[in-house]
Amino acid sequence: MGGKGFESSIEIFLRMRPINSGAIAPYEVDVDAGTVVWTIPRQASLGMMNHQREHYNFSFTGIFQMESKQDEVFHKVAHKVVVGALDGYNGTIFAYGQTGSGKTYTITGGAERYVDRGIIPRAISLVFSEVAERSEYTYTIHFSYLEVYNEMGYDLLNPDHETKALEDLPKVTLLEDEDSVFHLRNLSQHLATNEEEALNLLFIGDTNRIISSTPMNMASSRSHCIFTAHIVARKAGEDTIRRSKLNLVDLAGSERVWKSGVDGQILREAKYINLSLHFLEQVIVALQERSHGLHRNHIPYRNSMMTSVLRDSLGGNCRTVMIATVTIAQDQLEETISTCRFAQRVAMVSNEVILNEEVDPNLVIKRLKQEIHELKEELMLLRGEDEERPPLTTDECEIIDRQVVAFINDTNPDASLQCGASMMHIRTAFQIFKKLINHSETTKIQGTKGNCVSKSNCLDVSMDPTSHTGLQAQINELQHQLAQRDNEIDILVAFIKKQEAKFGCQIGTSFEHSKGIGTGGELNGLKSTPSPQLVSPRLVQSLETKLESQKIKGCDWTMQMKDPMHHKLEDQKKAFEIFLKKYDKMEAIQENKVLLKTMYMKAKALGEHVNRAHENIDKLKGKIERHRVERARNYLVSTINGDVLEHDFEEDHLLSLIDAEKRDYKQRFSQLRDLKKEIEHLHKLLEQGRVKLQDDFQHYMNDSTHQIPTPTKLTQQACQLSSTDTNMKKVELCKGMTTSCSTSNGVVSPSCKRATHNLEINQFGNNFKSRTSYLGENLCSGTINKS
Ligand code: ADP
Ligand code: MG
Repeated sequence: MGGKGFESSIEIFLRMRPINSGAIAPYEVDVDAGTVVWTIPRQASLGMMNHQREHYNFSFTGIFQMESKQDEVFHKVAHKVVVGALDGYNGTIFAYGQTGSGKTYTITGGAERYVDRGIIPRAISLVFSEVAERSEYTYTIHFSYLEVYNEMGYDLLNPDHETKALEDLPKVTLLEDEDSVFHLRNLSQHLATNEEEALNLLFIGDTNRIISSTPMNMASSRSHCIFTAHIVARKAGEDTIRRSKLNLVDLAGSERVWKSGVDGQILREAKYINLSLHFLEQVIVALQERSHGLHRNHIPYRNSMMTSVLRDSLGGNCRTVMIATVTIAQDQLEETISTCRFAQRVAMVSNEVILNEEVDPNLVIKRLKQEIHELKEELMLLRGEDEERPPLTTDECEIIDRQVVAFINDTNPDASLQCGASMMHIRTAFQIFKKLINHSETTKIQGTKGNCVSKSNCLDVSMDPTSHTGLQAQINELQHQLAQRDNEIDILVAFIKKQEAKFGCQIGTSFEHSKGIGTGGELNGLKSTPSPQLVSPRLVQSLETKLESQKIKGCDWTMQMKDPMHHKLEDQKKAFEIFLKKYDKMEAIQENKVLLKTMYMKAKALGEHVNRAHENIDKLKGKIERHRVERARNYLVSTINGDVLEHDFEEDHLLSLIDAEKRDYKQRFSQLRDLKKEIEHLHKLLEQGRVKLQDDFQHYMNDSTHQIPTPTKLTQQACQLSSTDTNMKKVELCKGMTTSCSTSNGVVSPSCKRATHNLEINQFGNNFKSRTSYLGENLCSGTINKS
């Protein structure tokens, strides 16, 4: 480890959450001074001589009042910790406060709006934009996401879609080595090379977190979640590496059991509901005493998994920031004051922050090997050993060709070309370079004066036309997929209508409804007539088989409609409709859908603009080339006549036009890239909304007040239902519809393990998912859609 260290006290910030109703506690804030005073009015019933304190004063590094926005919080609390982590300093940001005070909102963000995204997604964005700026460094960043509940760790980055409860997640255990360093066994770390990949990991983790927490096990308020970026940075040409960790922590709710003292002193604190927070407090008290010069050899980190995991962050090698989240509700004042009091203790803890730099023996060995290799080659060259060898074979040339391409594509600034130690090899490599430059689409047009590549004459298409070509290919591919999906939907609708006409039932309604909202057909203006070549043969085949089996076995749908279970399903449907009307998150979901549509239009317009600029640049390039040929010809004639070549104003003009187009292209391209990020985020929000909706509906249904069969009953009924052949077909068909319109694996369990009402929920969920992801694909394909 390197020496560059400094002392740093834990910074504490207070964040106040707005409340929708109820009495507000009396308080005063001085933002500049970072102080807050909470007031508890004396209770007249206790007489004027009671010992109750009236005012409670607290100081903070900074205070965020109710109207503070997420970007302000990120900027003041997290920015320097994130940048520090990229510089090689460990960083931890943790939120502490009672349940409902805004910890998750602060750390992860609100689940509905883009502007509400919290510290984690913003930190991810900052990490990758900083990494892109620091070209002299090579970064490797892995992410992990741990949930600690009841002294047991769970790996939230488990990609298994079957997670239904916390216990389904891989268990993580703590190991301590002989140097008293803690290690987490079984916690997976995932490499992310860009923002999108990292956000996707966060999405997987948060989805697992939502799914696995039920009101019964209280995991959502009683567990701690730690999202960690494990960063390794290496500077080009150096043997040292920097390793750092950035922990973003959402602690369990800090609520306690309150007791009134005999003297009526209500602010007597009792026990934490969450035992590990009690241990956290013990650690903080011990550290506080140590910082006051008291002799404390032992800091009780080992008492709980969470304090062990955060050992470095508390009194160790880490730059740590705490956000104390409170509500301003009068009836929560005890908790609020207790949170502030805890923060004051934390502020006394001092950490020793060290630059985590170490010499990497692997890098030294690699460098020395490389040096030896190069010296040997130089030696051979100097001895002239290569002059006696025969010309290079085709195979040898191909190897050099591959080496040159690999060298060009290698983003590592330390990469070197090992083409072989002979002039013949070197010359061949140069030939390949020349060929590549001349034939590349990203050509730089050479100056007319000799062979020299004049910088001012270069058409530096540094705005990455290769990525444009790549995008174009992606667009074509997505457009094709889109058309294929639309056609699949049309065929399915036709199929369902056919069934309806044949058996007089209404099974297609919800499906048709799903197609009507925001599908590609609507947005891209694709024709709704199915064109067979655009439909996947698999789908056609499966539908044909279904139709055949219906014909042969003579499925009696009319009879099924009279089936009592059908009425139950209808009930579920109605319950779901009622639920949706009451569902408070629906408004935000609708808002996001509208926003997504607006973004799509914007992205499409931008895409068209980018394409136009690109085409204009191509045209201008052609014009310049023709102009230069013309001029070269004239030059030959003029030198024969002894004329002097005049300055080329026409070329200046064309170059300035290209410059303007380039600027425009660059600007729009980066706007488009930003918009794409926003669109992706919105997709994730919608997807999470879908999962939450499913979950909330299940809880709603579990509530016996809703006069709907209980899930257990339904499970039984569903299993009875599935035991008959014809009814099984009904389930199968529903499943077929669900999976066909879903973008991922169908959620409906073929073994009919779950309650039948899940069919309805899942079908809605999948329709919703299908709609949103569908819209998303349109958006992506629409971004630079030429047609
Ligand atoms: P916790 O994680 O502490 O239990 P949450 O972050 O889940 O609390 O917040 C509870 C509710 O309050 C959520 O609906 C959240 O969106 C909302 N909320 C929290 N903090 C704020 C804030 N600063 N502004 C607006 N809404 C907030
Ligand atoms: Mg929470």
